[in-house]
Parts: sequence; structure tokens; C-alpha cells
Amino acid sequence: MPIASVSAVTRVPVRDDLSALEGYHSPQVTVRVRLNTNESPFPPPESWRRAFSDELAAVEWHRYPDRSASALREGIARLHGVRPDQVFVANGSNEVLQTVLLTFAGPGRTVATFEPTYQLHGHIARLTGATVVEGERAADFTLDLAEVHRVLGAHSPTVTFLCSPNNPTGVVDSESDVKATLDLVAAGPNPGLLVVDEAYGQFADFSALGMVNDDVPLVVSRTFSKTWSMAGARLGYLVGPTWVVDELDKVVLPYHLDAAKQIAGRLALRFVDAMEERVQFIVSERERLSAAMGRLSIDVVPSGANFILFRPQGRGGREVWQGLLDRSVLVRDCSGWPRLADCLRVTVGTAAENNRFLDALSEVMA
Ligand code: PMP
Repeated sequence: MPIASVSAVTRVPVRDDLSALEGYHSPQVTVRVRLNTNESPFPPPESWRRAFSDELAAVEWHRYPDRSASALREGIARLHGVRPDQVFVANGSNEVLQTVLLTFAGPGRTVATFEPTYQLHGHIARLTGATVVEGERAADFTLDLAEVHRVLGAHSPTVTFLCSPNNPTGVVDSESDVKATLDLVAAGPNPGLLVVDEAYGQFADFSALGMVNDDVPLVVSRTFSKTWSMAGARLGYLVGPTWVVDELDKVVLPYHLDAAKQIAGRLALRFVDAMEERVQFIVSERERLSAAMGRLSIDVVPSGANFILFRPQGRGGREVWQGLLDRSVLVRDCSGWPRLADCLRVTVGTAAENNRFLDALSEVMA
């Protein structure tokens, strides 16, 4: 019997609970100044590149890599003053979050986010089959503790997300807000886990990392993509209680971290000083940009990250985005996102890129 042609085959439908889901996109266009994806504007140090290629030459490619990535975990643990068994590493912090949600969310469980926030938290939670409840942040995008109380009380989520500094707003959750949220999670009628996504943590003046220990239901995720200038390596991790890390290790695929990535990350940890220098530079450029933008007719959201959310006054966000693009400057258009009408987000770049952005913005706003 002839095999049916592909066009005649009825396509297998996706899972019912995924049929309405949209993918996560960040459109790219060719421009001179690209400030839309919160990457580092600088490549990693040249000496890292050399050390990396030297070690790559000695990899035994016919063997599986170290399954538990022990050297890399030890290095990250040393950096944060925790034990290696409190560190879980994966392919970008997105995969860290995915593993957390595969392990602790899923059908019949609830995940809470406080909006606006990083869209992948809710997106990945839905992919696991969990129910997502969206709490609201205050009008200035800070956490509203009364709302946290309401959402946690009403829904008893198994996983509660905070994102600090938050993407796309740049707002840092205060120490007292994170503590209060953790207390609410820990005191709930059902056991829950608080995930603080600190992809931009190094640019801020508060981190929840110091609050992690084996007796509190808190994990903090970080990435090598931003401050470590290694978005191309896809490497992220979390610091959390040993019992959480043990469960994640059971769920993640065996040998998920390839040999090259383990080397890349381990060697990067030798360059903490270079990384901190970049962070200082980006923070000072962020402050310079924020001040200059504040002198135009623009509302600027105070940022603790390597990007700035802003809303032009009296002009459509989309129109300003197009005006910047016409001048070959690409920023992220958030103007169509819920709760972010007319908002745009610019990533802090090199001094030259930032100047071009400011010049273009001044022209568009004139
Ligand atoms: N969390 C937040 C808040 C982010 O903005 C990003 C990157 N866009 C990530 C996690 C994921 O980063 P990565 O997978 O590159 O580590």
C-alpha cells in the first residue's frame, strides 16, 4: 500500500492545554546599534578565550562529560560561599527554571507570578501543565505585599516567582519584601518554594543569595549570559537547599552539560575581577543614560539591571521605537505588552552605542 503523502496526513494535534500557547519571540533586525536583548556589550576577556581553546584541545570527545559537573559546581559554590551540593547548573537559567518547574509544578499545581515580569516564568509553568496565577505589582512596578498576601492566601501556589531586578522593568525587590514573601510562602498551609530569578543580580545592590540555606524554601537563579559576557555558552545555575538540588538532579537529563560548557564556566570563574569591572562600567553607564533620558520628556523607571524601561510622554511607544529603528537603533518594544502600554526597554551598551541611542532618542523626541 502506498504511504500517504505528507500533505495528506492529518497532523497530530498538540496537547489540548498547549493549543492556545504562543511562543516566546525576540525579533532581530540588522541595525548599527542593537540594544534589545540585555546582552553584555563586551566579549569575554581574551585570556579566557585562550585558556578555553587550550583546554578544549585536551577534551576526550569519545567519553561522556562529568555528569555532575563537579568542578564547575565547586567553583560556583566557592564564589557564593555555599556548598557544591547547594548548586544546580544547567543550559542557561531558562533551563534551570524549566527543571525547577518540571520537578515542582506540573498538572494540578499552581505557580504564582507578579506582573509585569519575565514572560518565561508563566510560559514554562504552562508547558509543564501547571495553572498560572498572575498577581499584580503596584503602579510603580514594586511588589505590593497586600497583593502577595492575597495571591498566596487564595491559591497556595507550589512555586512562587519573584524576579529581581525584574525584567522588563529593572525594579529591584527590597530585602524586606523578599523576606516578607518568603515568610508567607513558608507559612502557607501547603509547602511551597520561592524562586528569585536574579539573572541581573550582579547589577543590583541587593541579592537574596545570602538568605539561602537548607532550612528555607528559597532558590535563587543566576546566569552567565549577562555579567559574564557568555550568552553564547548557555550556562545558568541556582543556589538552593540541598534537598531541592537533589530533586532537580533526578529530573534533568543525564549529561545535560557538555564538556565544553563545563570548561567554559569553570574558566570564567577565574575572571571575577574582569567581570566586576564590566558590571561597574555598565552600572555607571546606566545611571548616565537614566539621567540623560530624564532630561527629555520621558518617564524613566529606576533600574538595578543592565537595561532601562522608559515611557515617552505624549508620544506613542511604537512610534518612538520606529523612529529609533529608522536611525538604526534597535530597542525592545514592550508597548503592546499587558500593563506596559507605550513602554520601551533599552539595554545598556558601550559608551559609543549609548551615545548613539541618546542622540537618536533626542531627535525622535524633539
Ligand atoms: N531570567 C530573566 C529575568 C531573563 O531576562 C533571562 C534572559 N532573557 C533569563 C532568565 C534567561 O537567561 P539565560 O537562559 O540566558 O541564562
